[in-house]
Formats: sequence, structure tokens, C-alpha cells
Amino acid sequence: MSAGLNLAQQEAVNHMHGPCLVLAGAGSGKTRVITHKIARLITAGTEPARIAAITFTNKAATEMRERAKGLIGRDAKEVLICTFHALGVRLLRQDGAALGLKPQFSILDSDDVTSILKDAGGTTDAATARQWQWAISMWKNMGLNAAQAEALAKDDNEKVTARIMGRYEERLAAYQSVDFDDLIGLPLKLLQEHAQVLAKWQQQLGHVLVDEYQDTNATQYELLKLLVGERGRFTAVGDDDQSIYGWRGATLDNLKRLPQDFPNLKVVKLEQNYRSTGAILRAANNVIGPNPKLFPKTLFSELGEGEPVRVVDADNEEHEAERTVARIQSIRASGAGQDWRGFAVLYRANHQARVFEQALRKAAIPYKVSGGQSFFDRAEIKDLCAWFRLWVNNDDDPAFLRAITTPKRGIGHTTLQTLGVFASKYKLSLFEALFSSSLQGALPARAVGSLHEFGRYVNDLEYRARHTSGAEDARAFLLDWLKDIDYEKHLYDGEDSEKLAATRWTNVLDFCDWMSQRCGGQIEDAAGVTTGTEKKSLLEVAQTISLLSTISERETDQDVVTLSTLHAAKGLEWPHVMLVGVTEGMLPFKLETEGASGADANPNGPMSEGILQRLQEERRLMYVGITRAQRTLAVSWTKRRKKGREMVAAQPSRFIAEMALDKTTVREDPRAKLKALRAEFAQRAALDAAVEPP
Ligand code: ATP
Ligand code: MG
Repeated sequence: MSAGLNLAQQEAVNHMHGPCLVLAGAGSGKTRVITHKIARLITAGTEPARIAAITFTNKAATEMRERAKGLIGRDAKEVLICTFHALGVRLLRQDGAALGLKPQFSILDSDDVTSILKDAGGTTDAATARQWQWAISMWKNMGLNAAQAEALAKDDNEKVTARIMGRYEERLAAYQSVDFDDLIGLPLKLLQEHAQVLAKWQQQLGHVLVDEYQDTNATQYELLKLLVGERGRFTAVGDDDQSIYGWRGATLDNLKRLPQDFPNLKVVKLEQNYRSTGAILRAANNVIGPNPKLFPKTLFSELGEGEPVRVVDADNEEHEAERTVARIQSIRASGAGQDWRGFAVLYRANHQARVFEQALRKAAIPYKVSGGQSFFDRAEIKDLCAWFRLWVNNDDDPAFLRAITTPKRGIGHTTLQTLGVFASKYKLSLFEALFSSSLQGALPARAVGSLHEFGRYVNDLEYRARHTSGAEDARAFLLDWLKDIDYEKHLYDGEDSEKLAATRWTNVLDFCDWMSQRCGGQIEDAAGVTTGTEKKSLLEVAQTISLLSTISERETDQDVVTLSTLHAAKGLEWPHVMLVGVTEGMLPFKLETEGASGADANPNGPMSEGILQRLQEERRLMYVGITRAQRTLAVSWTKRRKKGREMVAAQPSRFIAEMALDKTTVREDPRAKLKALRAEFAQRAALDAAVEPP
């Protein structure tokens, strides 16, 4: 069992009966501790189903399950490996009734929330609604409800927002819906207020493991504390230097509080980095140096010095993309036999991907963009999901409105508006209102007739979806239904470009395949729910989809170059990494925009506390980027960059200077190159020996 673990890692893995914190820098094998500890707990007699491992993304959960399967085989299926949010769903589906939530509640995505807020706040302006959304989310993450937020409001603006939050809460309750923040906040409330539910879950969970602990927020911490109870059987692993979600409410206080809240906490530090060469690690350590330290740590690598870190300058983005592609090609051509999947291009913001996509396409290099628009954000998939949500939860008004108008079925805006007024007057959901006998008084008979027809149709679909299981039947059912509502025609009618409509239709068919496969019970659910081999009904599958952000798990094996934001690259590694757009104003990202006046605008003036904190978070982001690289790292910047519509002169990011690279290694000296190549081969041999078997 201790195979492939150093002594400190073994210590963490073998500490099974009390709280344990592994605090260590990037690439030191923290995630590896988690997977090995799952295996260790099982061999020590903990039932797999009583182990929960919490990861930061669904993708990370899928990967961890694969790795665990490699170690322990089929038992890994039983382990609950999922995100905090998926765990929240599980708690609420099982025990949410105690909070007045039906088991089939809907989960709203960010767009749904924006439109509910527009409605609740009486605006058509999406930007305003999103500001409210942001504030409400912050409040929820601090554990405040609308009344408490209003009591604490600093100014009129906050008061107004808090009142809108009140209306928003009412609507969510009426729709039997929750938003993403509720998936943490409501389970917490559930455990706080219902002792028997708390006892049940504490009994159920034998050990809880949390990866990327530094990015948990205050509510997640409270939830964790309740789940593990006083015994505190948990393992948290994290790195304060990689905390990059402060802007979303994550707090390092969680790291500070752990030793106070659990006096018998065992703290393990890992010091050896198994991922990167010496040169890369040194650059990383230099960059993170200026940040204040919560826990001092040192990292060393035994993989050899390796190739020097390159700094590449470019005239503009297009030029930068060309040079990046050229670099990928030259590393491939150097005889190293590197697959495309060994390369990653990482950047600060999603929109930066476009130019690199174009350059890669031009060079016929296969790639995927991760952390970009998710499959579930596509309009056609959202259409389908609205229907599924409505089958599962008739009270889901946002889904009702989308389904009844997609495709159009001759029920007009005025009819729906009247139905809405009627429903809120009698405190009914739209679906309930539609069957109310007094609706006849509010609408003409023909309109009522069409509404009834729609209602009966939904009921019929719901009934059939409940009784359809197995991949083949489910697929036939879905295709039948799409034909029924004439969805393909709807796509072609709504799209000017036939090609685009065809792509959308292909997406729809892919989605149906994926849904129906899940009914076959062959694949585990990425939300962490293991399906075993039994068949699932289409309705059951429909209940779990709202939580999945990616359909492309099967794509992880593709041999393609990865384009990713730095945030989405957390926890991952590639042999060759290119950090692009490392230009002042892009990374660190627009520090000057906060407090446009006075000192902040002056780079030599004193920094406000807010800006300083943002700079430190940007620096951690740079550290995350650098430490994704195993063998080579190139960092590029552009001499001109876009600012609004203009092109302005730009400077290399201050983080490049902070890497403190040896000047001689920056220039491309042919002799240095030869030396580096030799070093590279030596180091590759070392790496091959150290790499974990797949
Ligand atoms: P991050 O901070 O980026 O999340 P991490 O601390 O979770 O990194 P891992 O991803 O677990 O680090 O490990 C980094 C790499 O080092 C992986 O390829 C892993 O297989 C390898 N590794 C970890 N521990 C060992 C070990 N004891 N022996 C050999 N290789 C190891
Ligand atoms: Mg990790």
C-alpha cells in the first residue's frame, strides 16, 4: 500500500482515526494522498460507501474515481467522489423535505437566476440584475438571508438589493427551485436545524476527504464541520499559495481555523515536488516569494535542472499565437515523440482563447478548449433541459416558460402573462394555475384549451419518462418526443446558417445518446451517484443532469492540445506548458480599475489594501500556472495589447521579473540549447521512472 508514497505521504495516509491536514506546495502529491487514502481506508475495513471524497470540479471527481479504480478496482465505484455541490444535492434529495423541499426540486443555473432577478427587481437590464446576483451570492455565502442582509445594509443601494433578495427567495420557494449557493447553504441549514438528519449523516460518513481545501468558502467549512462531527474523521489537503477563488468568497480563514476547531489536528507537510524540473520550480518559488505566508514551506525537486524557462515576446496577440504554435511544433519535431495531449496553453481570461484557436486550426493541430462554454450552456441543450426539468418538477416556472414557448405552440405572450398574474394571485405555480377551474374567467376558452393541451402533454411525457428505462428504450423515447415537438425544424427555422443549425441538431442527438446511456446503468454518474448495473428510468436520469457541467468526460482521452484558463487548470499537469498573455494589465488583471482615483492609478504610489489583496491573488494564479508544467515552460507577453477598442503599448507582467530567471537562459543561445537538450533527455529518463502507471 505504501508503494509510490514518501514517508510524509504515508503518515497522512495512515492517520485514519482523527482529523488530518496536508499542507503543501504544488505538485507535492496532495491529490495522490487522497486517492491512496481512499484505498487505505477500504483495506482497513471502512465500507467504500461510507467514504466521501470532495473535489473542486466534476472533472476532477471523474479523474479521481479513475485513479481510485486503478488502485482498488471495483470498490471505487461505491465511494462517494463528488463536488461539495453534488454532495449538497444528495443531502437535499434525501432529506430536504425537512426544509419543505420536494425531492424533485429544480436546480437553477446562472442564466435562470439572472432572469428571475430581472423580474423580481423590475428591470430589463441584465448588467444590473447580475450585480444583484453577485451581491446576493456573496450574502448567501456568508450565511445571511434577505432580512439579515437588509439589517446589515451599509447604504440605500444595499438595502434595495436586500429587498430584491427577499422577493427572489420567495420566487425560488414557489418554484421549488434552488440556486448553486443554496446547494451548500440549505444542506447546512438542514444539518443545523434537524438533529436527526445530522445524526444520520454523521453515522453514514466514516471518513471525509477534501481536495483543494484552500478554495472552500465559509459555508462549505461549516458544512464539513457538521458532517464530520466531533470525531473529526477527515483529511483536508491544500496549499494556501494556490488559493485563487477569493473573488468568489473562498477564504483562507478555513485553513487558520482548522487547528483551533480541531485541537488534535495532525498537520503533515510535504516538501518534495514530483512534477516539475528544478528550473520551473525555482521560478515558481521566486514568484510566490513576495506573498505573505500563512505557513512557510519549501519545495524541492529531484528531477534535475531541466530546460530553462523561456520568456517569449511578441508584437501582438496574433504574433504570440504564431510563436506558440511554432513552439509546439518544434518540441514535437525535436524527436521527443510528445503527443498533442502533452501541451497546454494557459491564459487569464476565456476570451483570450480565440486567437490561439485560430492559429492552431490554421496549423491543423487538434485542440480542445476547457473551462470555456460548457455543453450545458448551449441554447439547444438548455431547451431540452427545460423540458426535463418540467417533467421532474411541475412547479419549476422558469422551465415551464421555456418549454411552453420552445418550439412555439401558438400560446402567446399575453396568455402567458395573464396566466402569470393569475398564478401569483392564488399563489400557484404556472402549471398548477393552468388546471385551475377559475382560470376560465381570466382567459378566452381557446387559450385555456391550448394551455390544457400543453399540460396534458407534459403529464403524459412525465408518466412515460418515469416508465422508460434502459439505453435503447430511452433513446427511442427521446427521438420520438423530439419528432413530436418538431424540434429539428425549430432549430433550422431559428438559425440563419444551415451549418450552425446542423451543428445544434448534432449536439441534441449527442445529448440524447448520452442521456440514454445513463439509463442503461453502465456509466457512473459524474455527480457522484454510482448507478451500479441496474437500469434507471429516464426521469431519474433527468433529475441528475442539472448538476453536470460537462458532458465531455469521454473526451479526456483525446490526443489534443489543451487550451484552458488558469482557474480551470488547477490541480492538473502537462509536460509542456505555455503561459500566454503574461502582460501587465492581463496578468495581473486590470488592477487599476478598482478605485479609479488617486493613489491606485499611480503605479509608484501606495496600494490600497483591496488592490494589494487582488495583486496577491493574481500572483497565486501565476504560481498555479507555472506549477502546471512538468518539463518545459514558456511565458509570453505582447508589446501591444487591446484596451477596449484601442491598441495600446504594453509591458511584460511584473511576474516575469519576479520569476528572477537567469538572464543568460532567456536568450536563445544555440550552445545553451544543446546543453538544455541534453539535460532534457536526462531529466526525461528520470521522469519516466517517476511517472505513475496509468
Ligand atoms: P497540485 O497542488 O497542483 O494539486 P498535488 O500536490 O495535488 O498538486 P499531485 O497531483 O498529487 O500533486 O502529484 C503531482 C505529480 O507527482 C503526479 O504526477 C503524481 O503522480 C506524482 N507523485 C506524487 N507523489 C509521488 C511519489 N511519492 N512518487 C512518485 N510520484 C509522485
Ligand atoms: Mg492536487
